[in-house]
Amino acid sequence: MFSTVLNYSSFMTLLKEHYLATVTAEELARNLLETATGEDDNPNFVDSTYLSRIWNGEREIAKDIREKCEFPSNKRAVYDLFKTVIVDDLVEPLKDDYFDKLASLIDNDETITASKKKSLKNQFESGDLGKYLANVFMYALNKPNKGYVTKLDFDDGRLFEEVDQRCPLCDEPLFKKRTDRTLYFFSIVKIFPDIASETKKADFESIHPKPADQNDIKNKICLCNSCAENYMFNPTTDIYDRLYRFKKRAIVNKGIVASASTRLDEEIKDILGNLKECDTEADSFKRLRMKPLKIVNKIYPDNRLLIKAIKDDNNAYYNYIKENLSQLDSYKISFRKVAHEVADCFLSLAEATDDQDAIYNGLIQWILDTQMLPESYRNAAHIVISFFVQNCEVFDEITE
Ligand SMILES: [Zn+2]
Repeated sequence: MFSTVLNYSSFMTLLKEHYLATVTAEELARNLLETATGEDDNPNFVDSTYLSRIWNGEREIAKDIREKCEFPSNKRAVYDLFKTVIVDDLVEPLKDDYFDKLASLIDNDETITASKKKSLKNQFESGDLGKYLANVFMYALNKPNKGYVTKLDFDDGRLFEEVDQRCPLCDEPLFKKRTDRTLYFFSIVKIFPDIASETKKADFESIHPKPADQNDIKNKICLCNSCAENYMFNPTTDIYDRLYRFKKRAIVNKGIVASASTRLDEEIKDILGNLKECDTEADSFKRLRMKPLKIVNKIYPDNRLLIKAIKDDNNAYYNYIKENLSQLDSYKISFRKVAHEVADCFLSLAEATDDQDAIYNGLIQWILDTQMLPESYRNAAHIVISFFVQNCEVFDEITE
């Protein structure tokens, strides 16, 4: 079956159907892509798997490739290749069919504007077929190559929900609503990627260790097609770090939702009771402004999962914590005391890092450490910290 849009995949498939049988699909694809990127002398630039995936419309064209194709010298080389080799290697009796089918593919593609269609048509009619094909190819290369799905299987659905239905890197929504169905546009990538080079692998491992099983769902994350492609094609340690931390937070969030609530109630009470015992005469206590800020003004907007975690905790436990604090003798004093403890710890953590995730986790760890609580109290500590982040001076207001 043939796609009704012009993209790299449909362009190459149509070309191959009318091309010399002695040239394999991979040879044709490799020759064209290496010429277009100026990487003819670099046999490792793209591997066979990647070529077959883009041929089948299963992956996007990487940004790296698209950028290299824009160099004037590479554009000229593509033009020469079409003019001197490819047009000649089309099977002679099939040539008319080929150009007819290509023209109707362009004509039927609703994503191409009328003026672009007209300009391509003019190029065809001018008779320079090499130039026409080179232009169609370059245009196709810059169009989305990967399709959408309308149903999610179980694991994909979990990963899609885990990122809150948006790309964790660029925040684009990963679906489009149509009247009769939902179209999903995303790719699942490995957080610790498949890397051939040992030195590069070591760079990644020095940031966060390689997981025991790279194919496990814990090493997978849902991204938009274009971010996914860029990461798969050229994984960087910077993006690796961001994905790793995003995933870690998503797993913590899920653990909280799942944990049993009665035990949690008791654990929260324990923590609040312990926090109450603190010194109100300390200097830092006086610095504390009890100025509630909205979460959105405290957490960096790209840290959506942290915002969501704090909101979820508060939606579920705000009243419970408030009630318990009020039972600790006089509510006002207790709250100030407890808030002071938390804020004081926040200030010392904030001196060391401005990474909000790290500070947030540091606060939780601090509760566990100072109160000598077991790891099982982590969810309760998470909820208590969320309460203080929302209701007092933990995290400064983000300055615009
Ligand atoms: Zn993205």
